[in-house]
Amino acid sequence: MSIISTDIQKAISLLENEKLVAIPTETVYGLAGNIFSEKAIQQIFTTKKRPHFNPLIVHIHSLEALKSIVSYVPEKAKKLAEAFWPGSLTLVLPKKNTIPDLITAGKNTVAVRVPNHPLTLELLKQLPFPLAAPSANPFNSISPTKAIHVAHYFGDKIDLILDGGSCKNGIESTIVGFENEEAVIYRLGALSVENIEKIIGKVTLKNTKEENPEAPGMLLKHYAPKTKTILTDNILEEIKKFQGKKIGVLAFQNEVISDGIFENIILSKTGNLEEAGTNLYDSLHQLDSLELDVIIAEKLPEIGLGNSVNDRLQRAAFQI
Ligand code: AMP
Ligand code: MG
Repeated sequence: MSIISTDIQKAISLLENEKLVAIPTETVYGLAGNIFSEKAIQQIFTTKKRPHFNPLIVHIHSLEALKSIVSYVPEKAKKLAEAFWPGSLTLVLPKKNTIPDLITAGKNTVAVRVPNHPLTLELLKQLPFPLAAPSANPFNSISPTKAIHVAHYFGDKIDLILDGGSCKNGIESTIVGFENEEAVIYRLGALSVENIEKIIGKVTLKNTKEENPEAPGMLLKHYAPKTKTILTDNILEEIKKFQGKKIGVLAFQNEVISDGIFENIILSKTGNLEEAGTNLYDSLHQLDSLELDVIIAEKLPEIGLGNSVNDRLQRAAFQI
C-alpha cells in the first residue's frame, strides 16, 4: 500500500506511538510529531537535517487550545487570532513551562498556529496532544505543496503522508511576534502585511536575520532549488548573460520570448498575487527537475503577497 493516504485513524495511531506523519495544511505540508514526545521531536530534526537552534511551530485545533501552550496573550495577538485562525498566521508568544525546550530551541517563547485544512483540523481535534510540524522537506530545500513532493523527499523515511491535495496558499505562514505589546513581523508569508494592518494598524518588519536574531530560522539561503537561481526585474537582460545554457524562466504574468529558454513557467496569467504564491513552490519543483543550468525568476510587484513571494525567491537565489 502506498504511504500516501487519507486514513486519519492510521495517522492517529502512528502519532500516538511517537512516529512521524506528514500532514497537509493550507500553507505547505508539515512533518508532524507529538510535541511531548522527545523521540518524535528528535526524529523531526534528524529526518529534516534541521539544526537544533531552529525552533518548531506548534499546531493546535482552536483558539481555545492556546491557553495550554502560552502564558500570556497581548491584546493585539488576540485580535489577530480571532481574525485569522484557522489560517496562515503564526503567533510567537511567551511559552508555558510545560512546552519542551526542544520545541522552542531553549527560548522562552513558542510559535503557534491553527492550520486551515479540514483533514488536519480533524486530526488535531482527535489527538490528545498538539503537533510540532515544520515543513516536510530537508533543511533549506524547496517546501512541499503536494503529497508527492513529500514522497520524493521522505518516501523511505516516514510511514504515512496524509493526502490533503495541493496546498491552497502554497507558501509558509506569516510569523508575528510581540515586543512591548507591539506586533513585529518575523517572517513574511501567506497572510499579507496589509491584511494584518487592517486589524491592528501599523506593524514593524524584522524579517531578516540581521534585524532579528530572535528568529533563527530566517536564514539568507533557504527554500532553495538545487539549480542555480537568479532573481531579477529584467529577465531578458539576465538571459543574455547565459547564452548557450539551458535556461528555465519563472515569470510572474507574461510569457518571456527569447532564444535559449528551455522551459517557461508563469505564476499567474491573470497577475493575481495569491495565485502566484500558491504556484510558487510547485513551479520551482518542476524547474528543478529539468537539469537546467540556471533558473531565472522574475521579481513580483512589491505589494501584498508579492512581497512574500519575493522574500522566498531572494532566499532561493542567495549565493553563499
Ligand atoms: P518552519 O516550521 O520550517 O516553517 O519554520 C519555523 C519558523 O518559525 C522558523 O523560521 C523559526 O525560526 C520560527 N520560529 C519558531 N519558533 C520561534 C520563536 N519562539 N521565536 C521566533 N521565531 C520562531
Ligand atoms: Mg521550512
